[in-house]
Amino acid sequence: MAQHGKIAAPADGKKIDWRAGKLVVPDNPIIPFFPGDGTGPDLWRASKLVLDAAVAKAYRGRRLVWMEVFAGLTALKHYDKDTVLPQETLDAFREFRVGIKGPLTTPVGQFKFVCLECAAELPERPERCPKCSSEWITPRFRSVNVALRQKLDLYACVRPVRWFDGVPCPVKAPEKFNIVIFRENTEDIYAGVEFEQGTPECRKVYEFLTKTMGKHIPFPDSGIGIKPISRTGTRRLVRMAIQYALDHKKPSVTIVHKGNIQKFTEGAFRDWGYELAEEEFRDRVVTERELWERHGGKLPAGKLLLKDRIADQTFQQLLLRPDEYSVLATPNLNGDYLSDAAAAQVGGLGIAPGANIGDGVAIFEATHGTAPKYANKDMVNPGSLILSGAMLLEHLGWQEAADLVVKGLKGAIQAKTVTYDLERQMQGAKKLKTSEFGAAIVAQMDAKSPVAA
Ligand code: NAP
Repeated sequence: MAQHGKIAAPADGKKIDWRAGKLVVPDNPIIPFFPGDGTGPDLWRASKLVLDAAVAKAYRGRRLVWMEVFAGLTALKHYDKDTVLPQETLDAFREFRVGIKGPLTTPVGQFKFVCLECAAELPERPERCPKCSSEWITPRFRSVNVALRQKLDLYACVRPVRWFDGVPCPVKAPEKFNIVIFRENTEDIYAGVEFEQGTPECRKVYEFLTKTMGKHIPFPDSGIGIKPISRTGTRRLVRMAIQYALDHKKPSVTIVHKGNIQKFTEGAFRDWGYELAEEEFRDRVVTERELWERHGGKLPAGKLLLKDRIADQTFQQLLLRPDEYSVLATPNLNGDYLSDAAAAQVGGLGIAPGANIGDGVAIFEATHGTAPKYANKDMVNPGSLILSGAMLLEHLGWQEAADLVVKGLKGAIQAKTVTYDLERQMQGAKKLKTSEFGAAIVAQMDAKSPVAA
């Protein structure tokens, strides 16, 4: 067992390597993880059970070797007071390359302190939290999730959105929905360049824009945000989306943008996307214009269709004709809205998985928050973290194990043995605890009449 500060690297696992732009995965890869705050530990226990079982059932001689790293509440407990994202955690994700995480408390208001047990936001630092009596109170901090993405340059937020038979949802034909969203993760609004109304900095920016640059800003009492979108950031995101679509034999990639209004950011995102496709994937991609001009509207076999849509129209399209979309590449803010709207369309965020991926480093994560009111009640749905784990297995190239996870989850839902959130919306369902749901998924992996994964 090698010790990296407070992190103990297990001696029975090996590091994943990165050679010539590809992961080289041993049979016993060390996977850094942290369960997260609030309901995170409950979710993690069930997820670990399912992932370990899937690997054991799929392969002889392979296993995931878990290495706990610390962030959020557990970091406060292991490191100096007020450290919510230790450098060692960042270093471990960078060095071991593929990790998984539970949800973390993120303060949202203007309060000065936050309780990491119950997410209460507090004006003063009391000895104990007035809401839950926890001693784990720390000064307000920026989102650890965003810091992880930025510091590790995890530039693509990847969200596969699909419906599982039996999951209650608000649309008539949810089975038509099977879309993977690649959302840019480091620029646009995530660059965080904002100036608060009334401050000297904001005044300076206002003066510069109106007087030096000749721009019209309707009111001088505006807060001002800057939205950078770069050619570099766009090209690497679109490259990843196209490569994913080709690797997974998907029929199309759609570049989503608001280029009719924001020509030099959103519009440029579209143009740079086409430019990249032209330069690097010319022989494999057909644009929508070429489809009609050269191929009579019929996509030649083995080719990928590249199209683009205005963001607001995309929301309509995903509701009305989702089966015409397969992979989306979006800038940061549009992708944020689209990902959650899409997940809601097929039954909510409770089971929507996600990943943040860069070149050679990836972290898989539950997409919902810490749901602190259910912490330690063994009650919430671990589906999001479990399916994120299935994405992790797929990322390692362990497709058989990933398929078993999906088969188990589908089976448990179809058998109507589900956690409270699904049970309350399903006729005749049996309510299970988080841990029981994990066990039900494992049992369904062996079902004789499997649902196709
Ligand atoms: P939340 O934790 O996502 O919970 C909101 C509601 O969603 C819950 O009350 C519950 O609804 C439902 N829910 C969430 N997770 C569920 C699960 N696994 N199974 C079943 N239902 C689930 O959102 P929040 O209360 O706004 O945020 C709490 C904390 O999490 C905040 O500090 C926030 O900043 C943070 N957060 C973190 C992440 C992340 O780490 N990626 C993401 C979002 C929010 P019902 O009560 O109706 O059943």
